[in-house]
Amino acid sequence: MPHVVTQSCCSDGSCVYACPVNCIHPSPDEPGFATAEMLYIDPVACVDCGACVSACPVGAIAPDSKLTPEQLPFVELNAAFYPKREGKLPPTSKLAPVLEAPVVHAQRGGPLTVAIVGSGPAAIYAADELLTQQGVRVNVFEKLPTPYGLVRAGVAPDHQTTKRVTALFDKIAARPGFTFYLNVDVGSDLTHDELLAHHHAVIYAVGAPTDRRLEVDGIELPGTGTATEFVAWYNGHPDFTDLPVDLSGERVVIIGNGNVALDVARILTTDPDVLARTDIADQALDALRTSRVQEVVIAARRGPAASAFTLPELIGLTAACEVVLDPTDHQRVLADLAEETDALTRNKLEILSKLGDASTPITRPRIRLAYGLTPARILGDTTAAGVEFTVTGTDDRVQMSSGLVLTSIGYRGKPIRGLPFDDAAAVVPNEGGRVADTPGSYVAGWIKRGPTGFIGTNKSCAAETVHNLVADYNNGLLTEPRHKSSALERFVRGRQPAVIDAAGWKAIDDAEVARGGGLRPRDKFTSVTEMCAAAATAPAPPLHQRLLAGLRR
Ligand code: NAP
Repeated sequence: MPHVVTQSCCSDGSCVYACPVNCIHPSPDEPGFATAEMLYIDPVACVDCGACVSACPVGAIAPDSKLTPEQLPFVELNAAFYPKREGKLPPTSKLAPVLEAPVVHAQRGGPLTVAIVGSGPAAIYAADELLTQQGVRVNVFEKLPTPYGLVRAGVAPDHQTTKRVTALFDKIAARPGFTFYLNVDVGSDLTHDELLAHHHAVIYAVGAPTDRRLEVDGIELPGTGTATEFVAWYNGHPDFTDLPVDLSGERVVIIGNGNVALDVARILTTDPDVLARTDIADQALDALRTSRVQEVVIAARRGPAASAFTLPELIGLTAACEVVLDPTDHQRVLADLAEETDALTRNKLEILSKLGDASTPITRPRIRLAYGLTPARILGDTTAAGVEFTVTGTDDRVQMSSGLVLTSIGYRGKPIRGLPFDDAAAVVPNEGGRVADTPGSYVAGWIKRGPTGFIGTNKSCAAETVHNLVADYNNGLLTEPRHKSSALERFVRGRQPAVIDAAGWKAIDDAEVARGGGLRPRDKFTSVTEMCAAAATAPAPPLHQRLLAGLRR
C-alpha cells in the first residue's frame, strides 16, 4: 500500500524531510526541484509509514487504497518518475540533507529584528525560517486586513485542499516573536526608511501584483480583462469586488494556457451549485448563476507539447470538466506525440489525445483547448466581440467570436519605492535575495525570482534569502535599528490607527467561518470596511498578556 502524491502537491518539501527512507523526490537539494511540477513517491521504496501524510501541509498525500477515482492517475504518475525495477528495494538511508537553519549570533544591540512586507507564502516561509532561532523578532506588514496573499486571493475556491496550507501558516504566525501588522500599507502608511529605522533588515515578499499586458489593438475595449483580475474577483479581493464581469455571451476566450487559465476556465464552467459549497465570493457566485457561457476557449500561441499548464492540473481539469479539442488540434497532438519528448510532456500529450471532439454538440458548459493561435487584435467597435488570431508561423487569420476576452499571460511584479527595479524581468535585482546596492533590503518569492512555481517553491526561495540575511547580520553588515522595538507599535498606530493584529485577524477568520454556516468553508468579507468591523470585535487580551507583551518588547 504505497503512498501517493496527488494534485494539490505544493512542493514545499516538508514530506521529503519527514520521510525516513528518502523515497520522495526530487528533494530540495536535487537538480530539478525548483522546476518540478510536483513531488513523487517511489512506490517500490515507500515503507507505508505515513510520516509524509502528517507532514504535508495541503493534504496531498494518501495511501493508494484510499484514492478517489479522480486521483487514480496519480498512482502511475508517481511511479513513472522512477526507473522500472524488479522486487521491493530495501529502505534507503536518509539521504536528503535537512537544510540547516541559519545560526544567529546574538549581538549586543538587541535581538535580530526583521520586517517582512507582504504576508503570502514567501513571507510566511521567511518568518518560519527566521523564527527557528531563539530571540529573533519578525514583524509582518500586510496592506490588506487579511493575511496569506495568493493562498486567499489566488488559489481557486474549488481547490480547498491547497488552501489547507493556511493551517501551517497560522501555526507559524502564533510562534513567539511573530507579530502581524495587517491593514498597513508600506509605501503610503510607512516608508522603507522608517521600517529600516525600526529593524535590522526588511524583506519584501510582495509577489507580482499586476499582470503582463498583451500589446494588441482593441485590448482597452470593455469586455476585455485579465485573468489575474478575474481570479481576484472570484476570490473576494476587496480591490476587485466591483470588477465589471459580463457573462451574457455564450463564449469566453482566454489567451495563454498556464495553470491560471485552467483555473479560470474551470470556475467559468463548473456548476454554480458545486461552487456554492466553496469559499467563492458571493458576488461572483451570483454572476455565475446567471451566466450564459457555454464554451471557454483556452487559446495558446504554440503547440500542445509546449502547453504551459502542468500535468497534475491537466489531470484535475479533465476529471472535473468536459474538455474538447478541434480536429486540427487533435492532429497537432498526434504530430507532437510522434516526436521524441520527455516523459512528462508525453504524459500530457497522451491525455490530450484522449479528449473529446469539439464538433460534438454542446450539452453543458465546456472547455476547448486551442493551439497555434497568436492573438492579433481584439474585434469590436465599442465593446469586445471576439479575437482575431494569426495561425502561428503563417499569415492565415482566424476570427473567434467571444463575449468576454481574458488575457492570462502571466503575472508581473511592480517597482517598490526606494529599491531598484529590473523592468524587463519585472523583479527587484538581487543576488540570493540580497537587493543590489541597497544594504538591509532583501526580497523573497515572485518579486525576487519572477512569477513561477507553486506555493511550496517559496519555502526554499525564502530560506535562501534568510540564510544570506543572517550571514550579513552575523558579519556585522546590518545597521542597528535607531529605535527600540517597543517604539514600533505606537509608531505604526500613529500612522494607521486601524492596524489589525493577530487577534483581529482571528476575529475576521472566525466571523467568516461562522457566516459559512457549516455549508461552506467560509463566507468571505469582500470589503475592507466589513473586515475592519469584524476585527474590531476581537476581545482585548487579558491584562497579564498585555504586561508580558510589554516586557518582551
Ligand atoms: P504561465 O504559466 O507563465 O503561462 C503564461 C501563458 O501565457 C503561456 O501559455 C504563454 O505562452 C502565454 N503567453 C505569454 N505571452 C503571450 C503573448 N504575448 N501572447 C500569447 N500568449 C502569451 O503563467 P500563469 O498561468 O499566470 O501561472 C503563473 C505561475 O503560477 C505558474 O508557475 C503556474 O504554474 C503557477 N500556478 C499554479 C497553479 C496550481 O498549481 N494550481 C495555479 C495557478 C498558477 P508561451 O508558453 O508560448 O510563452
